[in-house]
Amino acid sequence: MRVLTVIGNRPQFIKAAAVSARLRRSHEEVLVHTGQHFDDELSAIFFRELGIPEPDRQLGIALGSNSSQTARMLAALEPVVVEMAPDAVLVYGDTNSTLAGALAGAQSGVPVAHVEAGMRSFDRSMPEELNRVLADHVSALLLCSSEVAVRNLRRENVAGSVELVGDVMVDVALTVQPQARSRVDLLRARGLKPGEYLVATAHRSGNVDEPARLESLVELLLAMPLPVLFSMHPRTRERLVDAGLLERLRDGERLILTPPLGYLEFTALMCNARAVLTDSGGLQKEAYLAGVPCITLRASTEWIETVECGWNRLVDLDRAAALDALESFAREPDLARPALYGDGHAGERVLAALTLHLQ
Ligand code: UDP
Repeated sequence: MRVLTVIGNRPQFIKAAAVSARLRRSHEEVLVHTGQHFDDELSAIFFRELGIPEPDRQLGIALGSNSSQTARMLAALEPVVVEMAPDAVLVYGDTNSTLAGALAGAQSGVPVAHVEAGMRSFDRSMPEELNRVLADHVSALLLCSSEVAVRNLRRENVAGSVELVGDVMVDVALTVQPQARSRVDLLRARGLKPGEYLVATAHRSGNVDEPARLESLVELLLAMPLPVLFSMHPRTRERLVDAGLLERLRDGERLILTPPLGYLEFTALMCNARAVLTDSGGLQKEAYLAGVPCITLRASTEWIETVECGWNRLVDLDRAAALDALESFAREPDLARPALYGDGHAGERVLAALTLHLQ
């Protein structure tokens, strides 16, 4: 079977690390990098660190609005799908690359497999939510991370086959976290001690594009009672500069600002943190796996099970709620952590499902 895989941004590189090499042992893979994330910090370093095969095609499409980006990707992908004549198109997650890949495959009559299907925040103002819903409804094979995702798809009566495979990001996290946790040298290099600091990331459009929301984010980070290592996504950095807020953060006594970090270093910092502050989807899940409480800077989440288990609190950009969450985690040190997202073998199940349904 020939599988055309479309990836384009940081979390997709991480997810592909659990599948691509394995897929290539028994099938042919054509790996297409759309270019959505193109710089070393968000792209090349992940290929190097996680042993992801070099992309066979680089489309070089970045920047622009969501619609323009998706449209350009679609136009560039169509001839690649025609030329490669794959038996299946494989997409991951919820980005513009996901939607463009799924549409390009479906419109060429090639079955589409969507990894991380069925995730829903039920917030249609998020571009990611639109991408998820649309990709799911054109997919022939919907590979789900959780029971909740399976239920969401059943409720929506999707046309494709639905399979619970577990979460491919968990495969990678479970492999990397044990070695990363022991890399206390990486914390020390930044002047941090295990359990005595917070790790923060934020780049969702809903949090950084509007200056008033961005200011609330900045104030929230500055109000934290512990050192905060803030890994700044280029989009966030740009918005902070535009809004004249970067200096405020820089002046924060307890703020440590970094560019996006490689997966091993970031995972080392995350695993040893007191808590994580984030609006990222993947990080909520990784924090749960690492047993690090998560304060989610959004009002909704697709990873609702982590909230139900008490490991994740949704605070949006409410400073007082974030401080309260931090205190409440300290009062509940022994929360149970059931295996919600599979056992670290999702990549194998993705491959088995592809072979069974699409070969
Ligand atoms: N991540 C990383 N370095 C960083 C920040 C995040 O390697 O400096 C990883 C993080 O561990 C997670 C992924 O990037 O696996 C999350 O990516 P992102 O927040 O871009 O995407 P989302 O999860 O929101 O789709």
